[in-house]
Amino acid sequence: MTAGGGWETVIGLETHVQLRTASKMFCGCSAAFGAPPNTNVCPVCLGLPGALPVPNEQALKLAVRAALALGCTLHPKSVFARKNYFYPDLPKGYQISQFEQPLATDGALSYLSPDRGLTTATIVRLHVEEDAGKSLHDRFPKQTAIDLNRCGVPLIEIVTGPDFRSPQEARRYLQTLKQVLEYAGISDCDMEKGSLRVDANVSVRRAGEAALGTKTEVKNINSFAYVEKALSVERDRQVALLEGGGTVAQQTLLYDSKTSGVRPQRSKEESHDYRYFPDPDLPPLVLTEEFVAQQQAQLPELPAKKRERFMTQYALGVADADVLTGDRAVADYYEAVVHAGADTKLAANWVINEVLGDAKTHQEQLRVPPGALAQLIGLVRGGTLSQQAAKRVFAEVAERGGEPRNVAEALGVVQVADSGVVARWVSEVLGAHQQEVTRYKSGEIKLLPFFVGQVMKLSGGKADPKLAQKILEEKLAA
Ligand SMILES: [Zn+2]
Repeated sequence: MTAGGGWETVIGLETHVQLRTASKMFCGCSAAFGAPPNTNVCPVCLGLPGALPVPNEQALKLAVRAALALGCTLHPKSVFARKNYFYPDLPKGYQISQFEQPLATDGALSYLSPDRGLTTATIVRLHVEEDAGKSLHDRFPKQTAIDLNRCGVPLIEIVTGPDFRSPQEARRYLQTLKQVLEYAGISDCDMEKGSLRVDANVSVRRAGEAALGTKTEVKNINSFAYVEKALSVERDRQVALLEGGGTVAQQTLLYDSKTSGVRPQRSKEESHDYRYFPDPDLPPLVLTEEFVAQQQAQLPELPAKKRERFMTQYALGVADADVLTGDRAVADYYEAVVHAGADTKLAANWVINEVLGDAKTHQEQLRVPPGALAQLIGLVRGGTLSQQAAKRVFAEVAERGGEPRNVAEALGVVQVADSGVVARWVSEVLGAHQQEVTRYKSGEIKLLPFFVGQVMKLSGGKADPKLAQKILEEKLAA
């Protein structure tokens, strides 16, 4: 079901991203995922009296790089604040965050909208904070267990304006954000491990209306596949409410992936007044120009820039360049194939179709070394292998390794370009298809591909198709 009747959807996203650091934000505990419950803890992250927080420099570097990568204005001075609320997974009774003076504001991220083409989302703010612990409801029957390993893990929160007009756009933005953060080594952005989490503000309004409708906040969207689903469900719920003469209540909703529905968060899980105030244990965070310049220098070429460069340097279309630059490892792989001597367009086709197709079924591994792929592409171009034979060789090299030329010989698929041999196949084919020969000679020249196909079939795919066509044309003209 889609929003019909001239409704417009308005979505804003708040994304929490775990920074890729070895230790936590304000203590030396490991920030690694998957340790046994409550083993990565210390007096600081447990909030024991007298323990003092010390900011993690690596986390601050990554946060600044994220702000730069998203084109934000970095503030020379930002302030850590206490966000006070009571919850069992928050032993201090407050979370250290940034409120009135965040690290960065006013950024932008361009992404390819499925509806509107290249579109820019505004980044309203980007701030640093620590994560809370985790409540586990499935460990013991009718009891809640608490794991504090995540307590104090460094996060940045990235808040957009109400800029997205469909759940599909929101998803595309998130994919683009993930690409940028992965490229820059800021986060592994693994939603399954909780290192990228999304909350969304959703409202609807009649098309053409300027004022925003009442929004709800959807939380608990914990996989990329659910982003579109959860937002569509909530949009449709609001449209149905309004069309039935009702009103939308401003509330926080939890997405339930099992039922594909949303339900209101229990009121005791909600807290409206966080009583923010500057953390007296932490001085203001002051960034020098030198520090910022050093972080800028650490940023790699980002996806959008790389895509443009691929289009001009390798004469690729936007769609191909977009696929090849979506992942840094794939982009590097493609460039290695080209540097090993492959034609840029053929290399793009091979990487997009064969290499990525193979990677999909083999844990995202790029199994054929770039040099081997370049050699394989050369063999096709030079007429030694047909396209079909090359695909067999590719699969074999991916599975068992080896030099494409040797593998092709071992498989017996090297193309036959010996005109004597090909001429014999052509004669046999013409002899076996007298009727078609007569039709061809009486003007049905569109039968030529049929004859070429027959020669390829007879030769087991080994005949050089161009040579076969040339000999066929000569013999049929005689
Ligand atoms: Zn700790």
